[in-house]
Amino acid sequence: MQLRIPGPTPCPPEVLKAVGGQMIDHRGKQFGEIIQDVTPKLKQLFQTKNDVFLLTSSGTGGMEAAVINTLSPGDKVLALCCGFFGDRFAEIPECYGGEVKRLNFEWGKPYDPDAVRQALKADSGIKAVLVTHNETSTGVTNDLKSISTIAKEFDKLVLVDAISGLGSIDLPVDAWQCDVVVTASQKGWMVPPGLAMVSVSEKAWQAHAKAKMPRYYFDFSKAKSYLEKGQTPWTPCVSTFFGLTVALDMLLAEGLPDIFARHARIAGLARSGVKSMGLSMFPDEKYASNTVSAIKASEKLNVAKLLQMLRDEYKVVLAGGQGNLAGKIFRIGHLGWIKEKDIKEVLDAIAKALPKASS
Ligand SMILES: *Cc1c(COP(=O)(O)O)cnc(C)c1O
Repeated sequence: MQLRIPGPTPCPPEVLKAVGGQMIDHRGKQFGEIIQDVTPKLKQLFQTKNDVFLLTSSGTGGMEAAVINTLSPGDKVLALCCGFFGDRFAEIPECYGGEVKRLNFEWGKPYDPDAVRQALKADSGIKAVLVTHNETSTGVTNDLKSISTIAKEFDKLVLVDAISGLGSIDLPVDAWQCDVVVTASQKGWMVPPGLAMVSVSEKAWQAHAKAKMPRYYFDFSKAKSYLEKGQTPWTPCVSTFFGLTVALDMLLAEGLPDIFARHARIAGLARSGVKSMGLSMFPDEKYASNTVSAIKASEKLNVAKLLQMLRDEYKVVLAGGQGNLAGKIFRIGHLGWIKEKDIKEVLDAIAKALPKASS
């Protein structure tokens, strides 16, 4: 089976073996050693000296944590939206009484840095900017470096959903001055779902001290004080932690430059492969993501039929479009544990199924 959706992603056998280990006391010495082993390794992969916490939840819980730990009801937030996940991020502060200003960009296009600068110039009351690093729904990687540089010119908090990008595409958290950066275990990290990982900068801690949005489970102060004792405030997903100890060693052994290069190479193969079949990429190719490829469906292509056929006849599982992109695109996830051979198998299957799914 080729599971090539943008998360959950396949796990290496060594990780699966670790995940199958017997349960341990999450308040005991062994768990303490695990969390104190994985935390600094995660910091290396986040390229940060900031605090990093492991929250037991999917990625969306990490996004919620980023918002409620740094903002108060009534705070103005600029939400940059260029797809389904940008819209999701914007909804969170709305839900907690924040005043959200959405800056919408056409789906399939990246953020326009000039428009972001204009929006920040136009309203000095904005406190934070919500950014999607890699918009999984449209297959676009935004120019986060430019966006965070602009946000910092105006001294704003930068909260980043890097869930499907971090660890697979270069994102130096400290160099790019990102205050809270969120990712999740089931994306590029080669482990099962269950963990959101978040980094928290000094500026984010200062905001945290004054932030009044209600929070309990996801309180960064609790996460910090428990981490000092080698624990998490609540029962963690112990099995995913077991897997992470193995996966992080594999990622560090490969090294960030080689991980990024591998993702770039495989994404290049995916793009040239689908184009050679007469298909075209949905996003502006300059910004096409190295972790997920969104491919435009021609008029004649029945996306549901294609996905079904790939799954049933070729054991290849791809993703469709979300929201208003349903039926209009399909997506190949190529992040985490993936090699050239895998993407070639996927492309072969698409080439075979495509004529049968077109009218
Ligand atoms: C996967 C993903 C999420 C989070 O999804 P969960 O199902 O909560 O883990 C958020 N943002 C982006 C960009 C994603 O790719």
